[in-house]
Amino acid sequence: MAQVSLSQFSPSFNCSSNISNNSSYRSISSGGGELGACSADSSPVHPSKTPDIAALEKLSESIESLLSLDVDCSDAEIMVQDRAVPVHRCILAARSPFFKEKLFPSARQESQAASAKLRYELKDWLTAGNVGYEAFKILLAYLYSGKVKAPPPNVCICIDSSCVHDACRPAVDFAVELMYAAHVFQIPELVSLSQRRLLNFVERAQVEDLIPILIAANVCETGSDQLLTRCIHRVGRSDLDNVALEKELPQEVVNKVKEFRLSLGGATFPSSSQQKNIQRIQRALDSDDVELVKLLLQEGVGQITLDDAYALHYAAAYCDPKITSELLELGCADVNLKNPRGYTVLHMAAMRREPATIVALLTKGAHPSDLTSDERTALQISKRLTRSIDYFRPTDEGKESPKDRLCIEILEQAESRNPLRAEVPLSLAFAGEDLRTKLLDLENRVALAKILFPTEAKLAMEIAHVDATSEYTVDLNETPTAVMTKKLLSRMKALSRTVELGKHFFPRCSEVLNKIMDDDLPVITLEEQRVKRKRYDELKSVVSEAFSKDKADNEKSGMSSSSSSSSVRDGLRHKNNKYR
Ligand SMILES: [Zn+2]
Repeated sequence: MAQVSLSQFSPSFNCSSNISNNSSYRSISSGGGELGACSADSSPVHPSKTPDIAALEKLSESIESLLSLDVDCSDAEIMVQDRAVPVHRCILAARSPFFKEKLFPSARQESQAASAKLRYELKDWLTAGNVGYEAFKILLAYLYSGKVKAPPPNVCICIDSSCVHDACRPAVDFAVELMYAAHVFQIPELVSLSQRRLLNFVERAQVEDLIPILIAANVCETGSDQLLTRCIHRVGRSDLDNVALEKELPQEVVNKVKEFRLSLGGATFPSSSQQKNIQRIQRALDSDDVELVKLLLQEGVGQITLDDAYALHYAAAYCDPKITSELLELGCADVNLKNPRGYTVLHMAAMRREPATIVALLTKGAHPSDLTSDERTALQISKRLTRSIDYFRPTDEGKESPKDRLCIEILEQAESRNPLRAEVPLSLAFAGEDLRTKLLDLENRVALAKILFPTEAKLAMEIAHVDATSEYTVDLNETPTAVMTKKLLSRMKALSRTVELGKHFFPRCSEVLNKIMDDDLPVITLEEQRVKRKRYDELKSVVSEAFSKDKADNEKSGMSSSSSSSSVRDGLRHKNNKYR
C-alpha cells in the first residue's frame, strides 16, 4: 500500500497551532478546522475529496471499528490503571516500531502465541512518566484510524466553576501524557502534534503547571525542541524559587533555567550565614529528623526561626505529612505565614494534594479563606488541579477515596462550617461501666469506619494519634485500677477526637455510620453492649465477605465494578433487619 502522509486526511495537523485548551476540544461538534474536527466531520463526504481520500477514510473507519467492544476479535490486552484494553497485535506492530518489537519478539514460541490471549502491563513500558487510561485510548484510536480524536468530555477540565478551563492542570496533564505515550511507542508525528498543543499552554498556564511539561519535554527531546526552550524561558522569568526547581526538575533542566536567569542579568549572591542555616534546616527535614531541627533552632538561638526558613512551607511541599504534623506540634511556627511568592502553608498542601497535611493545618488554625497573590483560595487551588471525570466518578464504600477529592471535601467543610470544636476534656469521674460501654461504642464505630471509608478513617485517626493507644477489648474479670482507667481514658480521648474530626470533615461518612450504629439509642448495660459488639462482628464479616466476592468477580471480569457498594449495603440492610 502506498504511504500516505497524515496531513492528507487529517486537517487538524495543519491548524493545531491555534488550539490548546478545552474549549477547543468542546468545539469539535460545531465543526471548524480544529483538532478533533477530523474525527467529527468524517461522515459527510467533502465535495473536493478525491476517490483516494474517500477510500482511505473508509479504510480508517473499518480498522477503527475493531476497537468497539461488541466486535471483540482482539488477541491481546494491555492493562492500563487496572483496566484491560483489548488490542490487535498485528495492527499495533504495523503502526509502531515499539509495539512491533514488544509484541512480536523474535524468540517468542509459536505455541505460546497460539494459546490464551496475551496480557501486557502498560506500566512495564513506561519508565519516565505516567499515561492514563483516557490518553492511552486516544493513542490507540490514532493507531487504528490515523485520526486524533478529542478526549472524552471532562478529562481536560477541572471542577472549579470560576475557571475558564483555558489552560488548567487537567488539560496540561492530558497533553503531556499523550506526548509521552507517543514518544515511548515511537510515533513521531503524534509527538509533534502534542508538542504543538503544549506550546499553547506555555504562556497561559500557572507556572507550577509547567513542571510536568518540562519533565516530559526533556524526556521527549527531539533536537530543535521549541517546547523545552520556551518552558525554560517562562520558568526563568518567573519567581519560581531555586528550591522548587531543584526539588522537582531534572538537574540538566535546572542548569538550563539558571543559565537563562544569568543571561537576563540576574546576579548570584554568595550564600549568607542565614542562607546556610536555612539549608541545614531543610536538610534535617529531608531526612525526617525533627529532633535535629529542634537542635538547630537551639544552637542558632535568635539567629534563625522556623518562619525565617519557611520550614512549614517546605515540609508541606516536600516531606512526609507526619513531618509537617511534628513541626506543628513544636508550636513555634506561624501556620498562616505567607512565603515570598504569596502562598500560605495551606496553599502549599493544596498544591501537593495531601489531605493529611491539610487536616493537620486546619486543626492548628490555618485560615481556609486566605488568598494567593492571584486571589485563589486553597479550595480553588485543589479544584483546579482535579479532573472533572475523577471527581464525579463514584467511589465504592470500602475503597480508597482519591486524594484530590478528599482535599476538596475537607477544604469545603472548612470554608463553610464553624471552627472545629476544641478537644473535650474527659474527667476521671467518667469511670467504671459507663466508661467501658462508651469506649466499646467508639471502638465499634471507628472499626466500622476503617472498613467502609479506609482513607478518611486513617486520616482522622492519624491526626487524633489513635496509634499511641491500644485497642480496648472486653474482659469481665478485670478489676479496674487507676493505671488501667488512665489507659482507657487516653484511648477514649483519641477515639472521641477521631469521631469528632470525622463528623467535621467527612459528614457524608458520618451519616452512613450513624445509620448503622444507631447512635441515638441510649445504651444502658454492658450486656447490651456485648449484643452490639456481636452484631458489629457479624456486620464486619458480611462486609468483608462482600468485598472479597466483589474483588474475585472484578478480577475475573478484569473490569472495575460498581457493585461493591450495592452488595455491601444489601448485606448491611439484611443484618439490620435481623436485629430490629
Ligand atoms: Zn479549569
